Amino acid sequence: MPIFNEHQQEVADSLDESTSKSDWTDWKWHVRHSIKNIDDFERVLNVKFPKKEKRIYEQTLKKFPMAVTPYYLSLIDPEDYANDPIFMQSFPSPKELKIERHDMADPLHEDKDSPAPGITHRYPDRVLFHVSNTCAMYCRHCTRKRKVGDVDSIPSRKNLEAGLDYIRNTPQVRDVLLSGGDPFLLSDEKLDWLLTQVSAIEHVEVVRIGTRTPVVLPYRITDELVAMLKKHHPLWINTHFNHPREITASSRRALAKLADAGIPLGNQSVLLAGVNDCQRLIKTLNQKLVKNRVRPYYLYQCDMSEGLTHFRTPIGKGMEILESLRGHTSGFAVPTYVVDAPGGGGKIPVMPNYIVSWGTNKIVLRNYEGVITTYNEPEAYEATYCDRECSKCNLQLKEDDGEEKAIGVEKLLSDWDDTTSLTPEDNERIGRRDDAA
Ligand SMILES: *Cc1c(COP(=O)(O)O)cnc(C)c1O
Repeated sequence: MPIFNEHQQEVADSLDESTSKSDWTDWKWHVRHSIKNIDDFERVLNVKFPKKEKRIYEQTLKKFPMAVTPYYLSLIDPEDYANDPIFMQSFPSPKELKIERHDMADPLHEDKDSPAPGITHRYPDRVLFHVSNTCAMYCRHCTRKRKVGDVDSIPSRKNLEAGLDYIRNTPQVRDVLLSGGDPFLLSDEKLDWLLTQVSAIEHVEVVRIGTRTPVVLPYRITDELVAMLKKHHPLWINTHFNHPREITASSRRALAKLADAGIPLGNQSVLLAGVNDCQRLIKTLNQKLVKNRVRPYYLYQCDMSEGLTHFRTPIGKGMEILESLRGHTSGFAVPTYVVDAPGGGGKIPVMPNYIVSWGTNKIVLRNYEGVITTYNEPEAYEATYCDRECSKCNLQLKEDDGEEKAIGVEKLLSDWDDTTSLTPEDNERIGRRDDAA
């Protein structure tokens, strides 16, 4: 497939008569020509929306703005746009204005769990660092919809310093996840500087970048960018493909460049009603990703953010999809299905149950075909008491004695902590005990 086909030529011409192939493959051209209003969208896609509908679209844009790269728009089939997965991810739906009872502006409490500007610190050893306030394309299903189009800017070095300082002063952070917005909307130079700063921090062991540019702006993955990224290993990248139609000649080329630079690639999909809520579709998507050296990492249950209700499926849909993946296709084509806990509890994995029953010395399990089998527990297993004195342990970890606190259920299982139960705050029964004392 040529990288600049006839249809893309039409899209480009409708934006700018003088567009050449080298413009089309220039990522900055796409950012400059991003489609932001309904009139332009109609003109470029060569469709005509009914007048009444158009007014509602315009109202929706007032609350949740639009931005679509000409490249991503060119993937829409104008003959059947209404059900087109590319269209549905990029074009406003009046349903976005319908806020349901449970919807929240910031369901993951990313703003509340922010100890420094741009930082969300939720897990013990890693942080999310928002390094860009803008994206090439505004996904209609964005979980940070509350922020989309707000400030649309690239933070200055000075603004990023506060986040960097937090990481420098927080030695337990060994994994830094650059997100945004989209970090790849930063210039190569700025990103190079940022990656240099982050990787210079002694306790930071790995850096990851979350970007949707391979999907919506594959021309961003230039030889220069990749040559710069290569200097900052160990660097991991997660991208965001939701539908097999997004895997094109251009996006495949972008992925190949990143993989050839030795960057491990992962993908995070979101399960979206009417876009990809289908077993066969998700399996095809994951198989295609694997073929392009991308490991499906997470399949997200759609968050309860305001404006996303029409995209949400029941969790049962995701379970059904997982049931049709595990065992049916390569293990590395199966992502972990997660619900990001409302209130900031983090990602919770969910999957069908494979344990049928449990006895003192046997576990009864079922496989994907429905075969029920037994696993005999070893009779000779000697549980060793763990007192966290790793230096004296025969397993020879030979690292300093463990110092991390046990957290949650891990604490209940551990030998070195004598907690026997976890009790929610404000438990009335325990309250009565305290009152009596
Ligand atoms: C998803 C997420 C991470 C990374 O989680 P992993 O399971 O390690 O990929 C870190 N911080 C926040 C706030 C997140 O939402």
